[in-house]
Amino acid sequence: MSNVADTKLYDILGVPPGASVNDLKKAYRKLAKEYHPDKNPNAGDKFKEISFAYEVLSNSDKRVLYDRYGEKGLAGEGSGGSGMDDIFSHIFGGNLFGFMGGQNRSRNGRRRGEDMMHPLKVSLEDLYNGKTTKLQLSKNVLCSSCNGQGGKTGAVQKCSACRGRGVRVMIRQLAPGMVQQMQSVCSDCNGEGEVINEKDRCKKCEGSKVIKEVKILEVHVDKGMKHGQRITFSGEADQAPGVEPGDIVLVLQEQDHEVFQRDGNDLNMTHKIGLVEALWGFQLTFKHLDARQIVVKYPAGKVIEPGSVRVVKGEGMPQYRNPFEKGDLYIKFDVLFPENNWIDPEKLTELEDLLPSRPEAPIIADETEEVDLQDYENTRGSSGGLRREAYNDSSDDESSQHGPGVQCAHQ
Ligand SMILES: [Zn+2]
Ligand SMILES: [Zn+2]
Repeated sequence: MSNVADTKLYDILGVPPGASVNDLKKAYRKLAKEYHPDKNPNAGDKFKEISFAYEVLSNSDKRVLYDRYGEKGLAGEGSGGSGMDDIFSHIFGGNLFGFMGGQNRSRNGRRRGEDMMHPLKVSLEDLYNGKTTKLQLSKNVLCSSCNGQGGKTGAVQKCSACRGRGVRVMIRQLAPGMVQQMQSVCSDCNGEGEVINEKDRCKKCEGSKVIKEVKILEVHVDKGMKHGQRITFSGEADQAPGVEPGDIVLVLQEQDHEVFQRDGNDLNMTHKIGLVEALWGFQLTFKHLDARQIVVKYPAGKVIEPGSVRVVKGEGMPQYRNPFEKGDLYIKFDVLFPENNWIDPEKLTELEDLLPSRPEAPIIADETEEVDLQDYENTRGSSGGLRREAYNDSSDDESSQHGPGVQCAHQ
């Protein structure tokens, strides 16, 4: 648990809160190099975020404010934020609060509503090909009948019971010289601070000033977008009287794919081949993310070692905003060996004559101790514990009495 109000700017730089000035500088330099617009013209927004995060965190005054109050501290709400606005507009132009999100004061001083975040599941195919999808959502909009006033002009009165504050304070005497102060939501106005005469109340919204409306948003998922990337609809969040609506922010959630794993702009896949194919070449066909049928031919005479990786250039993911440039496709090969006793021993001798010759047999001294080499299940995350056991286990009993729990005890 950290005791800072918000870690977003630290997250942008990939450092923990409390990172030293040196670490901040290092992280900033590395990222700034990577995302510099000269080198990476599509990462302009990212570069601005990085610069902003560093600008704040490298200044001890601003950092103290940010740690204590989060982004609000920087926005000049509360105390000590004077002069901040200049920095903000300098870096972000008009887009500052779009990036900062959350509840803030907008540029014209009105209160700003909450942003609404929605996850949006997308397949790897969608991110490869791009996709336009419609999203239906229900949101509050100002009632058109009363212009968000709740009733006729002038019908809205300040609640007299609570003097417009929405809460009432009651003082009860418990005993002589001992009072209890209780604060409760005003029952006359339900905490609204204002009341509307029954007969003047707007019929359409019943005085609530807003009504639910179904809205359809057209969402463009661009080629090459990434998991976690945001698509923002400015000012489309719930409307409320006197409040500038926040944004609807869709956060892309890339779904796992059964063939490909994505790594930035590159794709990875694993392909199983037999021993013959590993030695004498093969053909591999697969359907790409845009439904193209791809064939890879690997010639006889070239050998694929088990676990080795080959690359197909330009068959990875399209780059965001530069979709004609693509990453690469890495294919890892699992080589399937034949089963035990798959061949007549005589034939095996023939095969041995064809294969590269064995190394010379080692000279075995008299005092050498011979041990058994046994089968064992290579469980995930196996470590020294398992291997040690293979040595220690001198019994011939092959039943596996040694569950993973027992093996863990060795570690
Ligand atoms: Zn009231
Ligand atoms: Zn109304």
